[in-house]
Amino acid sequence: MELAVIRANHRATRSRTPKDAKIMTATPIMTSRPGVPFVADDPRWARIVARDRNADGHLWYSVSTTGVYCRPSCPSRTANPRNVQLHDTLASARATGFRPCRRCNPDGPSIESGNAALVAKACRIIAESEEEPSLSRLADAVCRSPSYFHRVFKAATGLTPKDYAVAYRARKVRQELAHGNTITETIYEAGFNSSGRFYEKATDMLGMTPSQYRAGGVNEEIRFAVGPTSLGVILVASSRKGVASILLGDDPNELVRNLQERFPKALLIGADRNYEALVARVVGFVEAPRIGLDLPLDVRCTAFEQRVWRALQDVPRSPGSAGVGRQRLPV
Ligand SMILES: [Zn+2]
Repeated sequence: MELAVIRANHRATRSRTPKDAKIMTATPIMTSRPGVPFVADDPRWARIVARDRNADGHLWYSVSTTGVYCRPSCPSRTANPRNVQLHDTLASARATGFRPCRRCNPDGPSIESGNAALVAKACRIIAESEEEPSLSRLADAVCRSPSYFHRVFKAATGLTPKDYAVAYRARKVRQELAHGNTITETIYEAGFNSSGRFYEKATDMLGMTPSQYRAGGVNEEIRFAVGPTSLGVILVASSRKGVASILLGDDPNELVRNLQERFPKALLIGADRNYEALVARVVGFVEAPRIGLDLPLDVRCTAFEQRVWRALQDVPRSPGSAGVGRQRLPV
């Protein structure tokens, strides 16, 4: 292996002046220290080829032909490993004298974590706003154009900012009602500007009327299923009218207890094979374990719950089915 390096250097320098040749031999055009494998054989190189985001912050690489150094997840075209040097520290990458890549900003936060910070900030604004903030207000708050912000938000959460705001507000409605607040208080607290708007959305948010929900699911049959997800255990529960509850947690028994506490007056039906199969299919469909890794956990959970909620609403309604639907679930 060492021999090959010497030959490669020799070929590269043959047409140059002896002075240049000396410089070239001293320049590490590949990992050529005795006993150190070629970059292409190095397991760290495989992470760079895969643009492994998990390697960001632990590994850098410099490219002698372009004179830049990058983080592993850099979206630029994969360099020829013969021109690459691997670095386990940022200081070592900087010591090459090369410049930091403009695309991946190896000296600062990654593009994904930078975008995640924008999305997390927008989600905080949504949570703290009395009324649903507009796209342009959110984009302004994070100093990005509405179209860029919309794209980044969707990529990180699988939802539009509007979807997320709707989910957040619906969750608030459920919390307010579950805590025994009146419907009028709930309408106000959740930022609905008219009771008409609230009642229009109530079944989508609660799977029953607000007064039934507040009264513990009185006169409702609720089917539920529990299953594993990338974010822990999920419990999904639907009445005949729609989705009534989605809970995420670590302990399935605790989730079932939470459901019982929320709907003490409803008939809760577990172990319904059709419903369990439906929930498993929907959860599998919306699972996206690789997106939003840099987001705060509560934002990831809210986004995930909403993706499940929405997908269940899209399941066609059939007699006896617990799904409510407008369109067919894409497969
Ligand atoms: Zn780069």
